[in-house]
Amino acid sequence: MQKIEVPVLIIGGGGCGLASSLFLSRQGIRSLLVERHPAPGRLPKARYISQRTMELLRQFDAADAVYAKSMPLAHISHIRWCTTLAGDGELDRRTFYRIESFGGGSLTHYARDSPCESTLFPQVRMEPLLRDMASAQDEAQVLYNHQLVSFEQDESGIAAVVQERDTEKLIHVRARYMIGADGGKTVGPALGAKIEGQTDLAHMVTVYFRADLSQYWDDDYSMTTWFVNPQGGSWASGVLGQLGPTRFGRHSEEWMFHFSFRPDDPSRFEEASLLPRMRELLKIPDLTPDIIGIGHWTVEGVLVDRYRWGRVLLAGDAAHRHPPTTGLGLNSAIQDAHNLAWKLAAVIKGQAHDSLLDSYEAERRPVAASNIQWALMTFQNHQLTDAGIGLVRGNPEASFANFRRYFADNQEGRTRRARLAQIMEVQRMEWQAHDIELGYHYDVGAVMPDGTPTPGRDPLGQTYVPTTRPGHRLPHAWVERDGKMISTLDLVRPGTFLLIVGRNKSNWTEAAAEVAHASGVTIDVVEISEAGQVRDTDSTWRNLREVSSDGAILVRPDQHVGWRSVGAHAKPPQVLATALGRILQRDLINAS
Ligand SMILES: Cc1cc2nc3c(=O)[nH]c(=O)nc-3n(C[C@H](O)[C@H](O)[C@H](O)COP(=O)(O)OP(=O)(O)OC[C@H]3O[C@@H](n4cnc5c(N)ncnc54)[C@H](O)[C@@H]3O)c2cc1C
Repeated sequence: MQKIEVPVLIIGGGGCGLASSLFLSRQGIRSLLVERHPAPGRLPKARYISQRTMELLRQFDAADAVYAKSMPLAHISHIRWCTTLAGDGELDRRTFYRIESFGGGSLTHYARDSPCESTLFPQVRMEPLLRDMASAQDEAQVLYNHQLVSFEQDESGIAAVVQERDTEKLIHVRARYMIGADGGKTVGPALGAKIEGQTDLAHMVTVYFRADLSQYWDDDYSMTTWFVNPQGGSWASGVLGQLGPTRFGRHSEEWMFHFSFRPDDPSRFEEASLLPRMRELLKIPDLTPDIIGIGHWTVEGVLVDRYRWGRVLLAGDAAHRHPPTTGLGLNSAIQDAHNLAWKLAAVIKGQAHDSLLDSYEAERRPVAASNIQWALMTFQNHQLTDAGIGLVRGNPEASFANFRRYFADNQEGRTRRARLAQIMEVQRMEWQAHDIELGYHYDVGAVMPDGTPTPGRDPLGQTYVPTTRPGHRLPHAWVERDGKMISTLDLVRPGTFLLIVGRNKSNWTEAAAEVAHASGVTIDVVEISEAGQVRDTDSTWRNLREVSSDGAILVRPDQHVGWRSVGAHAKPPQVLATALGRILQRDLINAS
């Protein structure tokens, strides 16, 4: 029987597992990933990739490859609500409303706050790209068509049995840690993990197809169109999204169409019933799409009770699942992987105590709980917007009468349109959730608090306020190094701490060298100032840093601030060793 010994075993080759493999490899940690399917997933599922996720991929030199194939921002800069896609009736092909999204159009604050643009890159293309990148690393072994069968853990590690599905050959794997990134299928249930929350909120079908819709789709900039159909309501009548891959907007070659069935309708699983339904909902009786795939999924909002089970850590959809509204699923799955990878690397390299891994749950679970609430609320918001449009569920006559009044060229029509514009403001929560995407932070975990209170956040999730307070993402500013403009986030190398100092340095550089030597932890030190090695050319950084030119900011390998000193300190090595020790769960004072 084949035996493999490896520091980290990763179960699942979705976005979370593949990103974990890549992030670990780039920090010098060997891993084995097993994925039960023979190849990456065949359904588009996640499409929207947020700025923060792109920042993480940028840190690991993976962002350019995504941008090379993904949809430019302009083409995802709007979301709209329409009556139908086709048809020539009085109320067909009418647009109720269009809202800006994801940093496109006038939402220029997105570009101010990040070096990366949000983009559209369907999971069906993201997973193969991540697989190729992960497999290319010497430290990684990626086995498709292999599934986890069973596992046990003891004080020193995991003993797992993996099976090659074609041959049924078994492999015994011995690992120090295991990441359960299996979408909640095997690992969590085997551990007895409890899933808390709401399930079965809607039963959805997604049809992934190829078709030329250019004669009907009259907009090049809407990522998604919601069709509001009096026969069902917007979720029931369908959501159509463009997918590219080489042409965008109306000339997109691929599309996905989500619509719902009653959960007790057996025809939802019959392919023959789907095409007539699509034709009816889109109002294209002779539509003959080339169907690439069909997926069934339920809308839920659930969170696992524990992320850490000894040497097993749950991540991504294995730990939390939410409605796709706001697009937080794959994004937060990759963010889990990023948070966990540096901690596993530090523990495996002997730079941190094993208890650093407790901070993974302490930091990421509250973020997931908040994301679930957000996704559920933005899911519910569609009831508000349907009502604003004038949809009366179960009463098509009343709905059509309302639609007619909505589009009428009279005072009532103008009032109805103005009212909908007010109601649609609430949809900024879903498509302009800038603070939800960039402002998540960690109040407890691998951070040394500085006593400042948790700042209040925009309750509607839009206004992101950059801060260097411990636990928060390092604010982005463009700075100049060797004649080139880079982001402050680019200064954080994978697996490496960064100490940012100002013009007066105040012995921080020497302190960092001393602490690095005593702890065996690499700490890059960089001076950002008007005339430093990294130049703050337009004072953007000075306005963001919240510490004086005597102060220092210690940034963790995941670009979150771990500690800061507002000014100079009498004993820099001691204060820095205390902070790093607190983050890594080690006593570095007595070590130095
Ligand atoms: C219609 C739809 C639209 C969405 N849109 C967005 C969006 O725009 N943005 C966004 O961020 N998110 C979106 N999501 C959510 C996103 O798809 C998920 O959150 C994401 O797939 C989670 O990734 P994951 O790697 O954690 O889990 P998964 O993608 O579920 O991957 C888990 C993998 O584990 C494998 N596995 C399971 N058991 C075993 C085993 N025993 N052995 C080996 N392998 C195993 C599975 O085969 C699977 O490949 C959407 C979801 C849906 C359904």
